[in-house]
Amino acid sequence: MTLTDQEIARASTMQPISEIAKKLQINEDDLRPYGKYIAKLPLRLIDSEKMKGKKLILVTAITPTVAGEGKTTASIGLCEGLNKIGVKTAVVLREPSLGPVFGMKGGAAGGGYSQVLPMESINLHFTGDFAAVEKSHNLLAALLDNHIHQGNSLNIDPRKIVWKRVMDMNERALRDIVIGLGGHAQGVPRESGFDITAASEVMAALCLANDLVDLKDKLGNIIVAYTHDNQPVYARELKAQGAMTALLKHTIMPNLVQTIEGNAAIIHGGPFANIAQGSNSIIATKMGLSLADYVVTEAGFASDLGGEKFLDLKCQYGGLKPDLAVIVATIRALKSHAGIPFEKLKEANTDAVRKGLENLEKHIENIKHFMLCPVVAINKFATDSEEEINVVMQRCEELGVKVALSEGWEKGGEGCIDLAKTVQEVAESGKSNFTPLYNFEWPIEQKIETVARKIYGAADVEYSLKAKQQIKLFNKIGLDKVPICIAKTQYSLSDDPKLINRPIGFTIKIRAFDIAAGAGFIIPIAGNIMRMPGLPSKPAAENIDIDAEGNITGLF
Ligand code: ADP
Ligand code: MG
Repeated sequence: MTLTDQEIARASTMQPISEIAKKLQINEDDLRPYGKYIAKLPLRLIDSEKMKGKKLILVTAITPTVAGEGKTTASIGLCEGLNKIGVKTAVVLREPSLGPVFGMKGGAAGGGYSQVLPMESINLHFTGDFAAVEKSHNLLAALLDNHIHQGNSLNIDPRKIVWKRVMDMNERALRDIVIGLGGHAQGVPRESGFDITAASEVMAALCLANDLVDLKDKLGNIIVAYTHDNQPVYARELKAQGAMTALLKHTIMPNLVQTIEGNAAIIHGGPFANIAQGSNSIIATKMGLSLADYVVTEAGFASDLGGEKFLDLKCQYGGLKPDLAVIVATIRALKSHAGIPFEKLKEANTDAVRKGLENLEKHIENIKHFMLCPVVAINKFATDSEEEINVVMQRCEELGVKVALSEGWEKGGEGCIDLAKTVQEVAESGKSNFTPLYNFEWPIEQKIETVARKIYGAADVEYSLKAKQQIKLFNKIGLDKVPICIAKTQYSLSDDPKLINRPIGFTIKIRAFDIAAGAGFIIPIAGNIMRMPGLPSKPAAENIDIDAEGNITGLF
């Protein structure tokens, strides 16, 4: 019988966090312990001198399917494998949101024998970072409604308020609500709603900030509403940024935990990968590069979403220079891209794998567009046949792309030694010469079209009338020289979730833009974007339990 992720996690012996810190040469004095196994790390440990010559490895993936890819699992496994071959490596990840933990997908602490510990704590509340982001976000909402109630000297149009409230829960009933009901003393009635905390602009800003002062500036620059004469109203006009940042004093510090094999894992921040940048904080990545020789880090969804945003947005803002990108692929997902239904994915089918390779090839091309060397990691499942794996291996060899199995789920670091050696070889070869796809200074349309054509493979980009008007506005208010963060479906390279594998000849339709002026980007919206998920008919929460001793079960 195979053990569940949680059973494996519980059977692992953890070392005190001070022992993990020692491996990174962190003094006891520099640890901010949260119990025995978790500690926050002060920002003074970030040292640009120490970051020099370190290797930054991005883990991305092929287009996700219902079958699941396993990027987090592969990232942790690769970290274990690199440490096994003597490379001092830290894995740097995002923090899980409670939405998926109680909803459908489960936690985000890896799987099998490639996990970060203590997984229960990481998945449930952790060090309270999400709660603090939520409070900081909602404080701004409270100040805004209070401002209107107290006389509205800023002339805010209550119908043009764009700042909602957030909560870290899948709560569809709060998507669209009316607030301020109950008479004169209860505020001004207006329509509003809740987003999930991971979708908060405060989360995006936290993860792009370089320090507390930078974060405070970013929070002050958040646009909360427009006046009756259509002028933007900023958080700083409500004098919100000081208190908002004060609430994040501890949250800005990355969290240190450990992998099953006792290697360092830094987990910090958790922005969405569609409406936001989808990877851990710049601070956490720099912390990793200051303390370890190699940093393995994951970006959400595939190379067209989290991958592209990591490379164009986060790396440019953070001055980061990745050395290579690992593309995680599974045999099941490749077959799924060939149109094989979920129930039949377990059956060997080399023809289907061959057809699904079109998707992998596009993601390989995408990484090459950034002048980065790709390494393909086949995340091995028990149902994969040798013939199927060979099809992928052979094709990669034909393309001159390095490929290795990733068996971290089943075997931990031992299962990722080949992958680790391959990654080390490519990283040390110095063949990558990371170049972002676009420059922030380019016109908005040029940035969008570059990503759409080069990364998505689109033939054209179309803008709605509203989107065109918004571009004019951005050019006027100086919001044109920022990166773009295109929000679209993760299930297709295009903006239509039904177009699997490698679609061609499609047009990307930009419906409108959202603005994250504080975090520092604009969001061209291509498709229906969910900022507040709902729970499924059988929520994962129904299986989660705790006994008299405090043992939690049912997390996966
Ligand atoms: P991602 O980061 O791409 O969303 P995860 O690494 O979180 O994916 O993995 C998703 C789920 O798939 C987890 O529950 C994990 O345990 C499972 N999983 C990953 N790799 C394997 C594998 N090789 N065999 C079986 N299950 C796996
Ligand atoms: Mg993940």
